[in-house]
Amino acid sequence: MDNWQPDSWRSKPILQQPEYEDSAQVASVEETLSKYPPLVFAAETRELRRQLGEVSMGKGFLLQGGDCAESFDEFNAPKIRDTFKVILQMAIVLTFAGRCPVTKVARMAGQYAKPRSSNEETINGVTLPSYRGDIINNFEFTAAARRPDPARLLEAYHRSAATLNLLRAFAQGGLADLHEVNRWNMAFVENNPLKERYQDIARRIQDTLQFMDTIGINATNTPALHETSLFTSHEALLLNYEQALTRVDTLTGKPYDCSAHMVWIGERTRQLDHAHVEFFRGIHNPIGVKVGPGMDEDELIRLTDTLNPENDPGRLTFITRMGEGNLEKNLPRLLRRVKQEGRNVVWSSDPMHGNTIKASNGYKTRNFDAILGEIRQFFAAHAAEGTHAGGIHLEMTGQHVTECTGGAYQISDDDLAQAYKTQCDPRLNADQVLEMAFLVADHLRS
Ligand code: PEP
Ligand code: MN
Repeated sequence: MDNWQPDSWRSKPILQQPEYEDSAQVASVEETLSKYPPLVFAAETRELRRQLGEVSMGKGFLLQGGDCAESFDEFNAPKIRDTFKVILQMAIVLTFAGRCPVTKVARMAGQYAKPRSSNEETINGVTLPSYRGDIINNFEFTAAARRPDPARLLEAYHRSAATLNLLRAFAQGGLADLHEVNRWNMAFVENNPLKERYQDIARRIQDTLQFMDTIGINATNTPALHETSLFTSHEALLLNYEQALTRVDTLTGKPYDCSAHMVWIGERTRQLDHAHVEFFRGIHNPIGVKVGPGMDEDELIRLTDTLNPENDPGRLTFITRMGEGNLEKNLPRLLRRVKQEGRNVVWSSDPMHGNTIKASNGYKTRNFDAILGEIRQFFAAHAAEGTHAGGIHLEMTGQHVTECTGGAYQISDDDLAQAYKTQCDPRLNADQVLEMAFLVADHLRS
């Protein structure tokens, strides 16, 4: 990799970074972090890269989801468990109803840094720096809270480690056992209008498990029935944090960003000659790039040249976030060009970020129909171009929130105030995710 160093991004222009007051303190925190244990092991990221390679060849589906921003305040086991369950529940629907192997990647254990559309926020005539995620400052609207604090980098590391520890325990310690999954999902969907459809899947799983048991295949001798694999991911926005967690893998001699299995570049920081692309080109993790409606075909190809020069399937995922009204005009030209040039990528749909609106009462929200609309158009565009609709990227939570309007419960603008808990973007709740899972499963099968 010519001229790449873990810190070569530092000589490039960079957007969306905090302005710390005490640079000596920042340097000391970076030094500390660089000596801490990595959060993930390089071989795990290679396994994810292998699975994504299959997805890019049309043999699987990527399910990626979690909070827009994790928060230090809501750092507890029920919160982590419920998001884990929703991801697993959706994966089960996709696997059984969609008949497709699903790679699960959580937006968790490190999703703490946020790009913002404005550097400042004004409320009642008072102007303060914007909230940039708990790894940088505090959501509370006071000058002290909004001041970027380098100590938060260490705090984010420890919270990510604890979150990851619990996720691994859930995934391997029996919570994800298919026999168990069946049971907890029943209570989980108790009041959902799609309960019947979900229970039908649950019954089919039950029958299959019983049959397997009869012929001598059971959880004791088949790990696949007893555990699952869940990978972690976040937007690698704060490059000093990511650099400090970058390690050379002893098995391959290659650098990996060990803060998560997969990291992605946001829509606002993907400029070819800027710092984020520079950092990402040298790490060997599977990576994502958000692709908005303004992306030009040539620019997209140049990004693949820089980020995936060996055209390795599974290295690069394009996460399109066009908006319901923009997808039909902008996605097909990109699909066509990438296909023409024979580039191996995973195409995943983020139907959230192009569909953010302000509700009549001022809440930042997203309408469920617009989200579904973008997903439908995503599948239709891939079907028309002969490419693989490879995944979905969602902002969602297992908590009972009212942040996105619509869905089976017809959440209205007036209902938003009931349980609007996000510090950043509006998330789908568990019911809305289940509804979406069936829609996606139908597309996967057809
Ligand atoms: C996000 O994923 O929360 C986000 C900020 O997305 P984007 O970069 O696509 O706007
Ligand atoms: Mn978001």
